[in-house]
Amino acid sequence: MKYLDNKTKIVSTMGPACADKKILKEMIENGVNVCRINFSHGSYEDHQIVIDNIREINRELNIHTGILADLQGPKIRTGLMKGNGFLLKENATIEIGIKDIEGDENQISINYQDFPKDVSAGEFVLVDDGKIKLQILETNNVDRVKAKVIHGGLLTSRKGVNLPNTAISLPCLTPKDLQDLDFALKNDIAWIGLSFVRSAADVIELKKLIKSKKKSSLVIAKIEKPEALKNIGEIIEAADGLMVARGDLGVEIPLQDVPLVQKSLVKKCRNMAKPVIIATQMMESMIEQFSPTRAEVNDVANAVLDGADAVMLSGETSVGKFPVEVIKTIFKIIARVELYDGLYNTEIMPVAYDERKITDAICDSAARLVKATEAKGIVTMTFSGYTAFKASSYRPKAFIFVYTANFKILDMLSLIWGVKGFYYDKFVSTDHTIDDIKFLLKKDGYTQTGDYVVHIASMPIAKKGTSNMLRISHIK
Ligand code: PEP
Repeated sequence: MKYLDNKTKIVSTMGPACADKKILKEMIENGVNVCRINFSHGSYEDHQIVIDNIREINRELNIHTGILADLQGPKIRTGLMKGNGFLLKENATIEIGIKDIEGDENQISINYQDFPKDVSAGEFVLVDDGKIKLQILETNNVDRVKAKVIHGGLLTSRKGVNLPNTAISLPCLTPKDLQDLDFALKNDIAWIGLSFVRSAADVIELKKLIKSKKKSSLVIAKIEKPEALKNIGEIIEAADGLMVARGDLGVEIPLQDVPLVQKSLVKKCRNMAKPVIIATQMMESMIEQFSPTRAEVNDVANAVLDGADAVMLSGETSVGKFPVEVIKTIFKIIARVELYDGLYNTEIMPVAYDERKITDAICDSAARLVKATEAKGIVTMTFSGYTAFKASSYRPKAFIFVYTANFKILDMLSLIWGVKGFYYDKFVSTDHTIDDIKFLLKKDGYTQTGDYVVHIASMPIAKKGTSNMLRISHIK
């Protein structure tokens, strides 16, 4: 059976709203490509049920929905507050301590032991997504900091804290992240998200850990700090993909800077043939309402027009009232925008790498051939995934049908723009594979008599080497 397909992928965050396997199956049937497990919430028991459900659904539908395990990272939070919280009044002075106390309007606590050492007078402390803004007056460099309330508000227990001006000394991977990583690797999760990345070293450390456990999971660097933007070139180089995590990013940098940062990050990722996800508040109003706002429809459309590989839903599918409807709605927006011709073969060209120049040139030419022949697909086998990532980054106006005998790669490909992955393990000869795959594509309804497809192959096939051959064929 042929499932609904767009080229731009949908990442959906798991949670109580889709804990029921029937609902999750309906969401997947209506367009979810990657399920995100957010380690900020839920227990291992909950996550295990979700992972098992996704894999059962994949078997039932013979598809390859991927999983992204998102590590929480060094999330800084205020401590408990007495009662129902306290109103912090503008211009008041408040003490922030590292000792775990129940806070009030005069003193609160923070879960960051080096906070008094790392901050300096004049720096800002943003609490609860920036709703409350404090400015450091002085620190004793040991255990207490005095701050002035710039924008007040009601502070309740355990709210997120952002420190946009502070060089935070916390490691990128906390003890909780290491445990969560173990759980994710034991479950052979294809994509691992790393929160609050500041430099390439953060990504490299995680990749080394993954390798030391003899696993091949790929790393998505979540971009949500100004420091990451300063080091963005080296971060993209080190990571396997990026998430524009607009929730925290919009607190840490001026909100009005986020749209251009989004466009610039998408462009940079496409240049490097690395997938990029646009995240947070895409269909936020659908947490409560049956239909999105006009502005949300535009936001999704603009992410597709920017050329993102994927758009992500968070609360909309994890705790929202309409988890299936939101998928149907975002799918329709993507499908409509993808009819726009300007999306394809755009002037953003991936960087060609010397050591891969044959494959890169073949992928470039395949995208041009699609345009010249109006072919319905690029068809390729992949052993490492490289040809699929690269062919996608030229944004051809055709699906990239990718065949591999490696289930892990099929999971990875679920995130990549325009790619549809299939399990295939016959390696008789290039001619045989081409004919066999043409037969399968037609049988499954992806092509019809008269269509053209462009084949990328490696000759001889048994060597599983560089993609070095292009062929156009006609579906009979
Ligand atoms: C974000 O901040 O936009 C984001 C996706 O991160 P998280 O949901 O993990 O806070």
